[in-house]
Amino acid sequence: MWRDRFEERFRRWCGARHALSVTSGTVALELAIRLLDLAPGDEVIATPQTFQATVQPLLDHDVRVRFCDIDPDTLNLDPDALAALVTDRTRAVLLVHYGGNPADMDRIMAITRPRGITVVEDSAHAIGALYRGRRPGALADIGCFSFHSTKNLTTLGEGGMITLSRDDWAERVGRIRDNEVDGVYVPRTGGADRPALLPWMKFADGVYRHTAVGIRGAGTNATMSEAAAAVGLVQMDSLDRFVERRTRIAARLDEAVSAFPGVRLHRAAPDSRHAYHLYTFFLTGGRELRERFVRTLDRLGVEVQLRYFPLHLSPSGACAATAAGSARARSTSGSRST
Ligand SMILES: *Cc1c(COP(=O)(O)O)cnc(C)c1O
Repeated sequence: MWRDRFEERFRRWCGARHALSVTSGTVALELAIRLLDLAPGDEVIATPQTFQATVQPLLDHDVRVRFCDIDPDTLNLDPDALAALVTDRTRAVLLVHYGGNPADMDRIMAITRPRGITVVEDSAHAIGALYRGRRPGALADIGCFSFHSTKNLTTLGEGGMITLSRDDWAERVGRIRDNEVDGVYVPRTGGADRPALLPWMKFADGVYRHTAVGIRGAGTNATMSEAAAAVGLVQMDSLDRFVERRTRIAARLDEAVSAFPGVRLHRAAPDSRHAYHLYTFFLTGGRELRERFVRTLDRLGVEVQLRYFPLHLSPSGACAATAAGSARARSTSGSRST
């Protein structure tokens, strides 16, 4: 089946132990947070400089979200700030490889590993990035990917993947995403009168049952369609080319924007590779200059977005209510989808 082939190809490409396709990056994050089995009073450390889907699922749990300071050059979690936020209630860390620039994972894992803290990499921006020769999504415990049409690899508009380092997690995600029905999908054998298009659901003793009915937080339908998986599989052939093109465009933009005073570039460490989901740069000349700069680029047909606004300062206050960190995240970066 296309789904199995896409998952296996993505798993090997990423270097992860397991890879399970789902319907979106948001769903991958929701499943990741379910796997944490968070209890009231638990603490989760998160980056505030990200899309809301990274932390939104946490708000369904009675946990304390501690937003962590970021590095002003990379916009990734600052390992020193992270170390200062860890307590004996810290269960997990949620981080993003901002824009496709890998976070400092060796230092982050050195802090979290000895304490048994689970690290979730929101790798939605980082398809094609390399951290010291390894791929995001296989650098910690759980990786979450989005194949939305704005991302580096797409599966017809929506799609996602969750990568997992533990067998029991993979078994659980496999059950949850298929509504916890006690059966497995097997390919039809095909034949002239019955083309092998749709899989059968097969049960151990031929009885259709779902034992999880009525259990809170049990299954959902998060299964990627075969058509989407087929597109994803084909896109894998072109992924290196996509990232190379983004890298070439980013190099040209680097050259162009650094001609202006007060511009700072968003660069990967020399031993790592930026995936350039977003082309990010910083303007240090103040708000007025920034607005002029953005207006000028807009006139030239170059779309610029100010993002992200730190989640603990979000207008809804939804996140601020549970925020206990000391995030001073900047909101002055300009980003552009390459
Ligand atoms: C796109 C994105 C998501 C959500 O992915 P969807 O597939 O759109 O649900 C989550 N986190 C980050 C950082 C993203 O950029």
